[in-house]
Amino acid sequence: MKIDLAVLNRQFELYQKEYESAAIKVLRSGWYILGPELEQFENEFKTYIGCEYSVGLNSGLDALTLAVKALGIKAGDEVIVPANTYIATVLSITENGATPIFVEPDIYYNIDAENIERVITAKTKAIMTVHLYGQAAQMDKITQIANKYNLYLLEDCAQSHGAHFDKKMTGSFGDIGCFSFYPTKNLGAFGDSGAIVTDNEKLYKRIKMMRNYGSRIKYHNELEGVNSRLDEVQAALLRVKLEHIKELESERKKIANIYLEEIRNDNIKLPMTRSKSEHVYHQFVIRTEKRDKFKCFLEDKGIKTVIHYPIPPHLSECYRYLGHKKGEYPIAENYADTVLSLPIFNGMTDNEITYIIDTINGYKG
Ligand SMILES: *Cc1c(COP(=O)(O)O)cnc(C)c1O
Repeated sequence: MKIDLAVLNRQFELYQKEYESAAIKVLRSGWYILGPELEQFENEFKTYIGCEYSVGLNSGLDALTLAVKALGIKAGDEVIVPANTYIATVLSITENGATPIFVEPDIYYNIDAENIERVITAKTKAIMTVHLYGQAAQMDKITQIANKYNLYLLEDCAQSHGAHFDKKMTGSFGDIGCFSFYPTKNLGAFGDSGAIVTDNEKLYKRIKMMRNYGSRIKYHNELEGVNSRLDEVQAALLRVKLEHIKELESERKKIANIYLEEIRNDNIKLPMTRSKSEHVYHQFVIRTEKRDKFKCFLEDKGIKTVIHYPIPPHLSECYRYLGHKKGEYPIAENYADTVLSLPIFNGMTDNEITYIIDTINGYKG
């Protein structure tokens, strides 16, 4: 049997007719950018998250970068960020000239809230939290720290669509919540796109201007903006998927729960969920000491896995200038050496799930 990490045509086939008619409707309409589909998607998405405003953008990275920029964070400012995250989170900080201050992850792979306060300085402007792999970070504690020190709170929700912390949706805790709709994400489009959500009208208006060359009225450019628009075809397709997000989410949870119940191998550490932190399993990430050997073992059996992520941002070549050393964030570095994401995607068959479990349970270490 051959199983990829994510087989995206399966999730398309689940609602194929709806996607096709939504796309054809836009193609026939003659209106392709900043039109009615985007407006309706933004309305539906902000309602889903539980925020006042939403702005559709070109990508998750744009959502993060424009969020940092809209808050006026710039060179000389510091932003606290987990050491264990995708590089995009950190790029949004450095793209604005600010300095990322890394904090080690906890056992749930999210920023360890216990370690945030001690890195706060006079230059700290914001905490950028990430709900990694689909599990909400410890938002009660993180929100409390942001309030206590009067810091902005940003949320990278690129992996956490639909995940709650204590019954409140990720993306609705901070000043701005940032989402990616990259095709593999839990709410994935069929191309690039992203969005921000916020309750702050000023930030909403600013980001809405920024995405369209800094103008509210055509050719009246108030800000130095960018081109970061979520097109009508993607918006129409996202509206279809958003309607089915609950079903898609339960399917991922169902697969994850079968893994959690049935994978039995002393060499493999299964993911854990913090009480109050919902996990929507964007990735199902295990840890094992001889990770590369285990990965090859699975590959030989036809099971494709991916490492999220093999090099932590502080050791990435592009950030050599930040001057971080190997050993500086040992927990994040250990995760980079031991984590492995197993296949989990909508439309996975029972046979595939069973085959993966049996193969893993037969691994001798
Ligand atoms: C995917 C992802 C992003 C970037 O989203 P794009 O749409 O690919 O730009 C940012 N942060 C995290 C944690 C992600 O997983």
